[in-house]
Amino acid sequence: ECIKPVEVKTPVPKKGLSKIKVSNDGSYMENSNYFNHTIMMIESNKHIYPIILSLKKYIKAKKIASLEYLLITLNDCLACSGCVTSAETVLVAMQSQEELYKVLKENRELSPERRKIIVVSVSPQSRASIAAKHGEGVRRAGKALDMFFKTLGAHMVLDTSFAREIALLKTAEEFMERYRNKNTEKSLPMLTSSCPGWICYAEKTHGDLTIPFISRVKSPQQITGSLVKKLVSSHMNTTPDQVYHVTVMPCYDKKLEASRQDFYDDIYSTRDVDLVLTSGEVAEMIARETTSLEDLLIKLEAARLDADNPIHHNGAGSGGYLDYVFKRSAQELFGRHVEEIVYKTARNNKDFRDVRLLDNDGKVLLHFAAAYGFRSIQNLVQKMKRGKSDYDFVEVMACPSGCLNGGGQVKSESGDREQQREILSLVEIAYNELPSSTPGENSAVNQTISDYDVETSKQLFHTRYHAVEKDESLSLNVKW
Ligand code: SF4
Ligand code: SF4
Repeated sequence: ECIKPVEVKTPVPKKGLSKIKVSNDGSYMENSNYFNHTIMMIESNKHIYPIILSLKKYIKAKKIASLEYLLITLNDCLACSGCVTSAETVLVAMQSQEELYKVLKENRELSPERRKIIVVSVSPQSRASIAAKHGEGVRRAGKALDMFFKTLGAHMVLDTSFAREIALLKTAEEFMERYRNKNTEKSLPMLTSSCPGWICYAEKTHGDLTIPFISRVKSPQQITGSLVKKLVSSHMNTTPDQVYHVTVMPCYDKKLEASRQDFYDDIYSTRDVDLVLTSGEVAEMIARETTSLEDLLIKLEAARLDADNPIHHNGAGSGGYLDYVFKRSAQELFGRHVEEIVYKTARNNKDFRDVRLLDNDGKVLLHFAAAYGFRSIQNLVQKMKRGKSDYDFVEVMACPSGCLNGGGQVKSESGDREQQREILSLVEIAYNELPSSTPGENSAVNQTISDYDVETSKQLFHTRYHAVEKDESLSLNVKW
């Protein structure tokens, strides 16, 4: 089942069953209507497969209708059909705008001392996406989001860049440790872990091959989750389950990440992140609650609230892992200062780039790559399978062009590709608008890291991965 569904609603709900047939011209027909169902067509090896993703109600009607469908090409999809289990689908479906409105309403109805503390953490990619949609600067969009969530009932609105800085520092430390042990352990290439789309694929299709190489550092979303539940509950003298934590992220895959058992606190029966909304879902909520972002800003300025102070890290819009780890390792392992990284982009694939650090004789000291989109990931995995990968570090992201182009970002209403490309360049401009901050220079981040002993630090900032047995009955038998 897929977490990027398209919903098709039929106008007249009745009761009954339905079948799907392939007609002579190859299109898909249903011989009665489902009500409120979700169908995805997966295209692979020139075949198109229909998958019914959810059936909320079914109805009796003899009518034959041509199905509307969404085409997902191999650039977007693994064509695995089994990457989200039914149980996971339920967890993902629970993370909706309606669920948030319900929680906020229930919270308002409680007496003040019994109310939960509502915290919203916004990713920099989502802020840039919403800024681009409204033609606003990213700072003003951040302030507007702050006000928007507080008006709805949130007590705090945070920026996940703080946790991203911790993730960058921890990733660099892990890489240098792996590099130093590379002759005694099979530890390289180290593969980044912040993209749940990639992690889902790795665990479900190439578990034994890839998992030992995946960084054990949690993603910025999950580090934010650990810190919010731990720090807010202890500062407010309450328990983690009394803190309700919402994140705003560029993709649906983050909902799945938040639902992982590894991020569930058995003692307090609570998750580090209770609910994830995508940038697009938040844009819809803003449209529902107010006429424009501008209206929010006018109210905000009248209320003279403090300015949001988001920060930015160098590198591509997916967090700058490659950029930071390369520069820091070059300095600490080889005493070489790298000011700017000059990438070599693969022929015919702008989503695969690499960079080498050479010594004075031209010998390769470090070889890093960025693999974005499943086409690039597939190339990487094939190289690893054949023992042909000589990379030390790879920043792996499931979306072509990375997180700024995530599946949950605000999209063009027409679905036109050209328009979508224009939106992406506006999002990139908004994202890069802020002055950059170098990891390690923020005293609050450094203090947060040094506050914890080794064991607590492991719990807060690190995680594990699990190879998942593939259920062949769900598989489309697509061989990669
Ligand atoms: S790979 Fe992505 S799009 Fe394809 S079925 Fe899995 S979640 Fe859905
Ligand atoms: S690359 Fe795409 S799927 Fe992965 S974290 Fe970024 S937006 Fe989400």
